Amino acid sequence: MERKQYPSNLERYKQTQMVEYIDRDDVKYPPLRWVYYDIKNGVHNPHNVLLTYLVHPDESDAQKAIMTAMEKRCAQPGMPNILFVPVSSPTGQARHLERRGQSDCKKNTNGAGNNLNWSFLDGSTDPEVLSWISLLKGKQFDYSLHIHHDDEMFGKNIYGYLHEKEETPPPIYWESFTQSITHIGYTTYSNQYDDQENPALGNWIPQNGLIVTSPHPRFNGSFENYIVGERIARSALTIELPTHLKEKEYVPIVNAVYGLINRKSGFVR
Ligand SMILES: [Zn+2]
Repeated sequence: MERKQYPSNLERYKQTQMVEYIDRDDVKYPPLRWVYYDIKNGVHNPHNVLLTYLVHPDESDAQKAIMTAMEKRCAQPGMPNILFVPVSSPTGQARHLERRGQSDCKKNTNGAGNNLNWSFLDGSTDPEVLSWISLLKGKQFDYSLHIHHDDEMFGKNIYGYLHEKEETPPPIYWESFTQSITHIGYTTYSNQYDDQENPALGNWIPQNGLIVTSPHPRFNGSFENYIVGERIARSALTIELPTHLKEKEYVPIVNAVYGLINRKSGFVR
C-alpha cells in the first residue's frame, strides 16, 4: 500500500508497521504495508472503538467517503479513541487490483486465496490473520465496527448484525442509526434479511430490530467471533453497505456510520 493514498490530516495519527508476516516468501505481493491509525482522543478517554474496512478486497466503494469522513470527524468532541485499519486485507487488495475483471478474480479472498473474514482459525497462516492477532494482542475495545459492502443488496437498504458474548441491554444506538439512515432515504435490516436459510437463526435474539449473534460453532473462524470470543471487544457490529453507488452518494451514509461512533449515540457504553 502506498502511503500517499491516505489523507494528509491523518498523518499525525498514523502509525505504520511492516508486519513481518506480510513479507514472507509465499505471499505473492511483497512488500506491502499494513497501515493502521491509532487515534487517541484525550489522555483520559476510557472509550475505545476498533474500526475495520476492506476485509474483503472488492468492497471498496465507500473508501474515499470513509477516509474523508475519518479525517474530518475522528477528533471531534465525544469521539472515543479509534483504532482504524482502512485496508484490512492488503494482499487481497493487491491481488484484486491486479486481476479485476478477469475470470479468476475471486472477490472475497486475500493473496493466499482465503476469505479473511473466515480465517481466524487455530493454526491459520494467513498473513493478515497473524497481523491482526499481533495488533490486537492486549488491547480492549468497547465495540468493534466492521464496514462491508454487499453486492447482492439492491435498492436503498443497509443491514447490520451484531455479535455479543453475553446478553446485554438492547443496543439503543441501532435505533438512532436507523433514524439517521431513514432520514436520507435508506432502510435498515438485520442480517436475516439476506440469510433466511441460516441454521443458526435460532441462536439469534432480536434487539430493537437488530439480530444479535452469540458465539456459535457455525461462526468459528469469523473475525467477529474471534473478537468477541477472545474478549477483545464486548460486541462486534458489522454493517453492510450497498455497492455501486456514486461516490457522493456514500457521503451521507458514511456520516451516519460515524454518527454511530460518537458517544452520544449510545454505541460506546
Ligand atoms: Zn464483506
